[in-house]
Amino acid sequence: MSDSKYGLLGLGSHGPAVADVRARLAALPPDQLPERPDLQADDPTVFDAALERAVRAFQQHKGLIVDGVVGVETFTAIDGARWALGDRILLHTPGHLQRGEDVVTLQERLNTLGFAAGRVDGRFGPETERAVRSFQRAYGLSGDGSVGPNTLRAFEDLRRSVSGGSANVLRERELVRRSGHSLSGRTVVLDPGHGGSNTGAVAHGLVESEVVMDLARRIEGRLTAIGVSVVYTRTEHTSPTEDERAALANDAGADLVLSLHCDSHDAGDASGVATFFFGRDRQTSWSAVGEHLADLVLREVVARTGLENCRSHGRSWALLQQTRMPAVRIEAGYLSHPDDAARLADPLFRDTLAEAVLVSLQRLYMGDDDTATTGVLRLGDLRAYLASHS
Ligand SMILES: [Zn+2]
Repeated sequence: MSDSKYGLLGLGSHGPAVADVRARLAALPPDQLPERPDLQADDPTVFDAALERAVRAFQQHKGLIVDGVVGVETFTAIDGARWALGDRILLHTPGHLQRGEDVVTLQERLNTLGFAAGRVDGRFGPETERAVRSFQRAYGLSGDGSVGPNTLRAFEDLRRSVSGGSANVLRERELVRRSGHSLSGRTVVLDPGHGGSNTGAVAHGLVESEVVMDLARRIEGRLTAIGVSVVYTRTEHTSPTEDERAALANDAGADLVLSLHCDSHDAGDASGVATFFFGRDRQTSWSAVGEHLADLVLREVVARTGLENCRSHGRSWALLQQTRMPAVRIEAGYLSHPDDAARLADPLFRDTLAEAVLVSLQRLYMGDDDTATTGVLRLGDLRAYLASHS
């Protein structure tokens, strides 16, 4: 529809275009035009009072300017209102935006599930396409950004499997559920804190950026042994910002992010291990899986190392907040504390830490029916477990 074709249609207009608008309005599903005047007319080509009432009712319902006149905007909305999600394949075509009620439904669903589709405007633009791609990748679909039968089926499966809770929680829980009971084949981002000239804490002859890189390597060795891909956020010589690290994890499509730090405190008597997950507001900004993993890591590390339990905490730090997958930050011991530092200097202790991390990752995917006792599962048990579940 363009102005040149239809111009403005209002009370008193007549012609085939009026009959077209009348037929389109009459064919709309009830939820698109709740208060519907009788649109039967002796001469459907005449824009009569009933048609004007219908146009006004539609404009009111759609939040358009209520003037009873059909211009481009109103016609486009009428045209789009007939589409229900699934009626057609949706995709982003630059220069020709698909618009319609189906796109509205799609955007609402993506947003509800925590895939940011942007403003719900019924236009399948680049932002909506990006959200579709993220959704598809998260659910093991091809990620071509178009919405066809497979993607719609994934939406339906998801709708059946969730019954309440915040979008982020549902999304994460679903990702873990769908991904099965194995670490093998996953991608884990290891994020050793600091790096390059940014050393982090320095105490008792230990440098935080070096300790956590070494710890990361030990975790990497164990992860790759069971088929996990590892992506690092930095090298020895670089120190990306937290935003950059989060973007890297998102780009990698990682399943999990582990951020590794050691703590330090002027007082010198602070000691122990703490873990952190994304948590700001339990209703809307809370990573339930992150919390669960943070708790698992904490319990395993405490059980295996005897480090003081400094608990796990919800935080809205950039890396935790901006990553689209569960992320946990570990502050493994205080370099400023003589006992913690002495232990962290010991390669065997770092191995124990790495093993605790690995087991907690595996426990995350084993689910709640796992009855293995914290602190006793070993790498050998994991291999056996993986073999029996593959
Ligand atoms: Zn640090």
